[in-house]
Amino acid sequence: MTICVSVAAATIKEAVEAVNAAREKGADLVEVRFDLMAEQPSDLTPLKNIPIPKMATLRSKAQGGAWEGDDEAKARFFRRAIKAGFTLIDLEDDSPLLQRRERDMKNVERVISHHELDVTPSTSRIIELMLLAGAKGELPKGAFAVNSVEELHRLVHAGKMLALTGKKYVLLGTGDFGPITRLRYRRLGSSMTYASLEAGKETAPGQVDVATLKRMENGIITGITGMPLGHSYSPAMHRAAFASLGIAGTYLPFPAEKNELPLLMEIVRELDIAGLNITIPHKESVMEHLDEIDATAQEVGAVNVVVNRKGRLIGRNTDVSGLGQAFKAAGADLGGKRALIVGAGGAARACAAFLRREKANIVIANRTRSRADEVAKRFSARAAGLDDVAGMEFDVVVNCTPVGMEGFPAELPIDPAVLRPGQVVMDVIYNPERTPFLAEAEERGCQTIPGREMLIYQAMDAFEAWTGQRPSYEIMAEAVRKEQG
Ligand code: NAP
Repeated sequence: MTICVSVAAATIKEAVEAVNAAREKGADLVEVRFDLMAEQPSDLTPLKNIPIPKMATLRSKAQGGAWEGDDEAKARFFRRAIKAGFTLIDLEDDSPLLQRRERDMKNVERVISHHELDVTPSTSRIIELMLLAGAKGELPKGAFAVNSVEELHRLVHAGKMLALTGKKYVLLGTGDFGPITRLRYRRLGSSMTYASLEAGKETAPGQVDVATLKRMENGIITGITGMPLGHSYSPAMHRAAFASLGIAGTYLPFPAEKNELPLLMEIVRELDIAGLNITIPHKESVMEHLDEIDATAQEVGAVNVVVNRKGRLIGRNTDVSGLGQAFKAAGADLGGKRALIVGAGGAARACAAFLRREKANIVIANRTRSRADEVAKRFSARAAGLDDVAGMEFDVVVNCTPVGMEGFPAELPIDPAVLRPGQVVMDVIYNPERTPFLAEAEERGCQTIPGREMLIYQAMDAFEAWTGQRPSYEIMAEAVRKEQG
């Protein structure tokens, strides 16, 4: 493993402290970003005897740094750095200094770097840049802003091609998708990666701190895709589960457009991502890009969890099992009961799949009647319009629409006359915890189950599928409570 900790310091004294700290934290080498110093130090000898390989960098403004001096000043500075024990220097791939091999720069390794701050170029351009920069046996480094799945795919694909050359190179991403390119740098074929000394001390966007990088060397990466990926409780729940079980793991966002789904699935395989949650609007469209869909997900016609089994991607639906455990934990007996499902989308289908297993008699009421008909047919249920059910008798009522969710008007999804004392009423919405529908049901003497329960149990099942370990309900519930504030 080769981790280069990149440090920024205002003074030489602070630089010494930072280099020592990086060494103590297990860095293999340290890059000192001298361009970020208030002014270049006249004496570099305090760094000389710190026993760790050191790289001197004066990143120019055009490539994302703060260096504004000319090439001669840069060359003079590097000569001093080499005298002070620096064994690596960073030169940008458009630097005139590249042509020079001065006598006192002979015994130094040169990293030839190329930075694109706004975009990741095409795969072929990345390869070209790296081959050109590394042409004279020097170490090429490409750092590209990766802000979409498509851009990440370009980088991953370039890494795969470059690895075939057998040459050494450094590839990494800045931007939103930067962290995965650092955590999985080996999978990009990169011979090293750059880390920050600690969180909050990044010298480039997308850096991961050295302690996390070391902990995650063989760690488990999971995450979520959807579009847009609004605020979700899933990262907090899964990260809390990893921490409580002492598993090196993390949970990252992978926002993707529909046309990026096949690329994302390739990335999951290539970067050894253990699995993903799939959320709106991809729960159905992701299915065609997977190797296998399990029986429950097929029944529902939607996948909310992808599990990577040695490169084979399996689609599952833990909304069904999550819903079932939420009912079970509440002590609800559903066998043969009369159940009303409000809505005919993905959550409604998961609910219908579960209730059919319980042999409940199901009515599906939906705003768009034709969708209710479709889902009812699929699950041997009866279909109804939203206005048809107020006079009917039910033992169980489940809201599977977003009506009452935060950001929506605080309305009821159905005529409350359908609510009767003693019924079991669930709302799959988890934000807010007590929806207008649940509040109304409580007032009418029903037993209520908040959507938060389903959320937690589906997450527990997903986590277990990815890691083989069952997280504690309490840990995940606590993470949700903290998020709810
Ligand atoms: P979906 O596939 O888009 O389906 C939405 C359903 O709600 C459709 O039947 C739609 O009716 C209906 N609907 C939407 N707006 C409505 C309105 N203003 N009035 C009446 N009906 C309306 O969505 P989904 O994936 O099933 O998700 C539904 C809800 O479940 C979301 O709030 C989601 O957050 C929640 N959910 C919770 C969990 C959990 O773990 N607790 C898991 C999954 C989903 P039409 O057919 O007429 O459009």
